[in-house]
Amino acid sequence: MNPRLNIVPFVNVDNMMKLVLRHGVEQFITGLAAQIEDDFRRWPSFDKTPRVASHSPEGVIELMPTSDGRTYGFKYVNGHPKNMREGRQTVTAFGVLADVGTGYPVLLSEMTLLTALRTAATSAVAARRLAPRDARCMAIIGNGAQSEFQAIAFRSLLGLRQFRLFDIDAAATRKCMRNLSGFDIDVTPCRSAEEAVSGADIITTVTADKQYATILSDNMVGSGVHINAVGGDCPGKTELHRDILLRSDIFVEYMPQTRIEGEIQQLPVDHPVTELWEVICGTAEGRRDARQITVFDSVGFATEDFSALRYVRSLLAGTGLYDELDMLADPDEPRDLFGMLLRASKGPASDDDRAG
Ligand code: NAD
Repeated sequence: MNPRLNIVPFVNVDNMMKLVLRHGVEQFITGLAAQIEDDFRRWPSFDKTPRVASHSPEGVIELMPTSDGRTYGFKYVNGHPKNMREGRQTVTAFGVLADVGTGYPVLLSEMTLLTALRTAATSAVAARRLAPRDARCMAIIGNGAQSEFQAIAFRSLLGLRQFRLFDIDAAATRKCMRNLSGFDIDVTPCRSAEEAVSGADIITTVTADKQYATILSDNMVGSGVHINAVGGDCPGKTELHRDILLRSDIFVEYMPQTRIEGEIQQLPVDHPVTELWEVICGTAEGRRDARQITVFDSVGFATEDFSALRYVRSLLAGTGLYDELDMLADPDEPRDLFGMLLRASKGPASDDDRAG
């Protein structure tokens, strides 16, 4: 990559797609999952805070910062369920990595695709410890933008080959089936959520609706099932009936954030939950027995985006799959910022000023 300190590499959507395809979606998700898992293992070394959310009746805009003391990262992300009906994405994002030592950004990247990839990778990382060992079949309820990524992550990391799809919009299910047709998996469209969960060892809920929804009711969840609850990720936006939570063991990313945003906003604040990093580090149990119902109450946490940005950065060298952004003013003499402006008024900025 470019060693010039004032130049920041920028990965746009086109280059992100090229980067993912160069490695193959499955390999990319597998590598990303390993990075996410490694970073969960060193959980105490991260600055952690619930994300900073700005809510409106239509959706939410959030900032998700973290740092490991050497590198700082944040993601800007929105969640607007109504967008899809207007031809826009429900979720879009971009993110930044910066060097803690200088405070200078070292990467700017699109994160709409990257969020879908990291969300699916995190779901699979959790499911490897929480799902039944012999899980074969997953129901995916909500067949929108995130859905194929979830299927591919569970195929790659858990070896699942059977998927049962349901969406209130049959066109979404058809789109999902079409996109998954080349991935050597068995995909069954279903007419209801009840039909989709029948025989499934894992249930992924990944719908978008800004309300306390009941995508799964208590009678739909049999013993031994793992629920990967992805869509409920905002105050007033949940997917599971409360009674399911009361008979499940619940696993979360970062408890203070999930209490605000996750399925557990429906429960008293002292209801016991386990943070995923503890299961990954072996200090807490994941799945204990074949009859236990486990819920991964996923909302998405800043460290996963940090891991994703670092993973992308590690793959960039020598690819040319980035633009060089002239993002940082860098006069030859650092205190002469105004002088740089004056010199620019007389013509193109001097080489001295630009070279840094
Ligand atoms: P999307 O709008 O592309 O797709 C959502 C799909 O859900 C649509 O096809 C819609 O028809 C379907 N749906 C809505 N209500 C339904 C119902 N009752 N039953 C079945 N299907 C229903 O959205 P997306 O980008 O796929 O995101 C899905 C959800 O995941 C959003 O709520 C988003 O906020 C959330 N999300 C969570 C994380 C995380 O880390 N936990 C990350 C990204 C997105």
